[in-house]
Amino acid sequence: MTVRFNLPTFAGPELDYISDAVRTGHTSSSGPYSQAAAKLLQESTGVADVLLTTSCTDALEMSSLMLDLGPGDTVIVPSFTFTSTALAFARQGVNLRFADIEPRTLGIDPAHVKDLMDDSVKAVVAVHYAGVGCDLDGLFEVLDDAEQVALIEDNAHGLYGTYRGRQLGTFGRFATLSFHETKNFICGEGGALLLNDAADVDRAHVLYDKGTNRRAFLLGDVDKYSWKDTGSSFGLSDILAAFLLAQLEHADDIQGRRSRVAARYQEALVAHADRLRLQLPHVPEHCGSASHMYYVLMPSQAARDSALVGLRERGVHATFHYVPLHSSDAGRMFSDRSHPCPVADDISGRLLRLPFYTSLSESDQDHVIEAFLEVAASDTL
Ligand SMILES: *Cc1c(COP(=O)(O)O)cnc(C)c1O
Repeated sequence: MTVRFNLPTFAGPELDYISDAVRTGHTSSSGPYSQAAAKLLQESTGVADVLLTTSCTDALEMSSLMLDLGPGDTVIVPSFTFTSTALAFARQGVNLRFADIEPRTLGIDPAHVKDLMDDSVKAVVAVHYAGVGCDLDGLFEVLDDAEQVALIEDNAHGLYGTYRGRQLGTFGRFATLSFHETKNFICGEGGALLLNDAADVDRAHVLYDKGTNRRAFLLGDVDKYSWKDTGSSFGLSDILAAFLLAQLEHADDIQGRRSRVAARYQEALVAHADRLRLQLPHVPEHCGSASHMYYVLMPSQAARDSALVGLRERGVHATFHYVPLHSSDAGRMFSDRSHPCPVADDISGRLLRLPFYTSLSESDQDHVIEAFLEVAASDTL
């Protein structure tokens, strides 16, 4: 018996919508499926506008272009995140500073952000790790004293998660989403840029449309379109938007199922946590989790590494991440400062992710739980 780490889950109408998009003929970006998916995201989050992009990485690059960031500017990113959170800024010549995470939510630590602030800082990127809001109260306390600094939410994990009753992705000037096949809602490769400031809408569409005012032309606001600004080809194909729409229309079902998978792991493991010296994910009272993943913090890196092997032997594909960015080769290359991020180092060594996907069956999950308890117990002997 093998339980894979991730399996794409289909809501039902994906292939019908994709066939329809192909048959109808509008297969490039901004077609009817893109419009429907963007509208659904915009209405369900309440943001000013949503632009579907080819990836979350692209959406982060767009936010960097929107802020006109370049050499001389600094962006603060968490060390414990996926490469894209930092890469999207580094590739435009921006200096990076890596902030440590705080150990409760594994989100960026506002106290360290405060230490890293100076006049060159133009943006801070927050990640809502595993779909749980980072310490936004703490972050806003720091940012309220720094008006020139934009908050960008890399919300690749957190669509439909909440913080004090408000949706993740509605706090920053920009927020980004991922629809990569490993995320909660998928279309193969895809993403979105969420705009929370209506003043950004017009320019964002120019950057999105290869630097042209094509949208103003289509809306009838100008009689021809031409090159106006920087930009690139950021738009998601309507074929993929059709795939995505099928998923988003079933958001309640998908999120409900994922939240049950997370709750079942937590219920099964909580009674053993003290005995096995495990730390389980903590969802603060004021946060509603988007249930992106389930992780366990093992007592040591040795225990984590041997648990990964033990699980493999029992047919369970568990994984780990992230190799902290502050000590990576590129992280050092793109940063003007080298300082320790001890929490990121510690968490990165001890974190183990259990198989987690929308259609994970109870019997497969029971097998994972049984195998995990077995290997975790043998580690503490
Ligand atoms: C997956 C992920 C990304 C990148 O998403 P793509 O759509 O693959 O570009 C960025 N940031 C975080 C935190 C992610 O988990």
